[in-house]
Amino acid sequence: MANVITGSFQALWAALRQLPHKRMTMQYPDVQTQMANYYTYDPKLGVAKAGYKGRHILWLDKCTGCQLCSIACENISQAIEMVKVPTVVRPQNKKSLFPQVDYAKCVFCGFCVDACPFYALGMTEDFNLVSTSKKALLYSPEKLAVPPSDTRKKVEFKIEKEEAFHD
Ligand code: SF4
Ligand code: SF4
Repeated sequence: MANVITGSFQALWAALRQLPHKRMTMQYPDVQTQMANYYTYDPKLGVAKAGYKGRHILWLDKCTGCQLCSIACENISQAIEMVKVPTVVRPQNKKSLFPQVDYAKCVFCGFCVDACPFYALGMTEDFNLVSTSKKALLYSPEKLAVPPSDTRKKVEFKIEKEEAFHD
């Protein structure tokens, strides 16, 4: 009985101690954390730039259609297929061949980004990819070229006194 009373007071005390603190719970998906930069890789320096590894961003003006991203993915998940997009004409990509990513297969390893020698591929903070349709998980080059929507309210975490909170 003594244990029950002590335990109850301990639980109550633990709850009361949180009252002066700002809340941690966010109303996902309406509110999201402000993620870091896109994950990118500098092939000249051989250095990766830290960032969130969500869905890709494809910079159409840089992609040459070299297929190295697709080759890098071949032994991982075969999520990249090179597709011809006749409507997208770029001087550096004579065949209009661009990567398409299937997020039903992608494991977000980032090896394709590391393999791109032309700074054409990165990974964004967009992790909202849940869908009941496999087709919706297939991102065409044009879809990959659109930066993630910035309409949701984003909050930045602050670390103070070894405790994290947001406004
Ligand atoms: S992140 Fe990994 S699994 Fe996804 S497309 Fe790139 S190489 Fe393939
Ligand atoms: S994204 Fe990069 S690696 Fe992939 S085809 Fe385009 S230029 Fe080549």
